Amino acid sequence: MRKFDGQKLVLASHNKGKLREIALLVEPFGIEVVSAGDLNLEEPEETESTFAGNARIKAHFAATASGLPALSDDSGIMVDALDGAPGVFTADWAETPNGRDFPMAMEKVWTLLEERGAPEPRTARFCCTLCLAWPDGHDEIFEGTVSGRLVWPMRGDLGFGFDPIFLPDGKSETFGEMDPAKKHAMSHRADAFTKLVSGCFDGR
Ligand code: IMP
Repeated sequence: MRKFDGQKLVLASHNKGKLREIALLVEPFGIEVVSAGDLNLEEPEETESTFAGNARIKAHFAATASGLPALSDDSGIMVDALDGAPGVFTADWAETPNGRDFPMAMEKVWTLLEERGAPEPRTARFCCTLCLAWPDGHDEIFEGTVSGRLVWPMRGDLGFGFDPIFLPDGKSETFGEMDPAKKHAMSHRADAFTKLVSGCFDGR
């Protein structure tokens, strides 16, 4: 596995919630981070049907455009009673003509569960795939998950996306209610990041 021995990394995302979380994860390694937005990079279209496929598109696009190694995140929530939906399409379910509306997307998920008469607990998991890509075309992929169940109504206004209805296993607070440091210690993103650290940041 290739080590990251540089000083600067592009975060290949335009999602503010992800950028905040990834910047905090990278900070202790003394790596300077710059976001795709800071560099005025475009957002490539996510045309693949897997988290890894879309993570690769984003990281390679940013690495090629910037000439720097780039780290992307493709993530989403998979609901068992919806056969894994919205999954790779989590952000798409929130799309409206005026931008993303996550309360609407969460309501859509809950309404579908009600319509299907899905039994409790309505189990789900957040998945995160991180891709670290270099300008020469090499990449490394890391995957993480966190399991839990969905609750209704929404609880908490911390975090982002589907956090207010996700109750991780063994916890009494949703990700929307949880202190961010606690979420960062146990999230799908943290799980994938731990693997990235041992694979690529080891010894920094
Ligand atoms: P994408 O990876 O940019 O296609 O978007 C993934 C979507 O999944 C995000 O916009 C969020 O709605 C959702 N998601 C991913 N990770 C999290 C998380 O940590 N909390 C809440 N929602 C998340």
